[in-house]
Amino acid sequence: MLKIDVITIFPEMFKAVTGESIIKRACQKKKIRIEIYNLRDFTDNTHRKVDERPFGGGPGMLISPEPVFKAVKKIKGRRKKTKVILLTPQGVKFEQKTAGRLSRETHLIFICPRYEGIDERVRLKLVDEEISIGDYVLTGGELPALVVIDAITRLIPGVLGDSESAISDSFENNLLEHPQYTRPANFRGLKVPEVLLSGNHRLIKEWKRKQSLLRTKRKRPDLLKKERNNHE
Ligand code: SAM
Repeated sequence: MLKIDVITIFPEMFKAVTGESIIKRACQKKKIRIEIYNLRDFTDNTHRKVDERPFGGGPGMLISPEPVFKAVKKIKGRRKKTKVILLTPQGVKFEQKTAGRLSRETHLIFICPRYEGIDERVRLKLVDEEISIGDYVLTGGELPALVVIDAITRLIPGVLGDSESAISDSFENNLLEHPQYTRPANFRGLKVPEVLLSGNHRLIKEWKRKQSLLRTKRKRPDLLKKERNNHE
């Protein structure tokens, strides 16, 4: 079972996502266990304040190191194989292969900063991995953490049902998924490709593969280049 712990000042933000659908089911099936920690519970400050002004000036506030160090120490406990992840726009861009790798870990701690970010000493002393979900700036690490948790969870064996397999999803093998159709076979004159109605599994498989390649070539040629480089 993968244990996921999250440190945040907005614990409520996690309820909506972790209490629904596949993540909820993964918790019920004991494939993952998620615990959300309020950073404010780890400060001695009477006002439960966890931020301070940056030294040297500059706009906004920073998350102070003390409560984060305390929280990580408490959560880690005696565990040896914990990976501490900092959500930051300065991190390595999150990809499907990262989700796959993290889904094989046993314990992850996500630190979700706010304001202008977090004291550098957290990054230097506590963090094993820095993750960005893209080249844009959000107001906090909560949404990025949820994105990463969602992507990881669906890759854990037994989380998705047979009908929801992740194998043909986009980015597996650096390809985008083929086009998909459901009923009706003729919608307002727009017909489903004949081959998908043929019942011929070999032809369907070939069609899907070909469409996948065409689609990737048209929309994301960079992925094909990546795949070629992997094989060289
Ligand atoms: N001043 C910081 C900088 O320039 O790198 C940005 C701070 S941002 C307003 C507040 C927090 O949101 C960040 O510390 C980070 O935890 C989170 N965040 C924002 N954008 C993110 C992204 N693209 N990926 C991951 N985390 C992000």
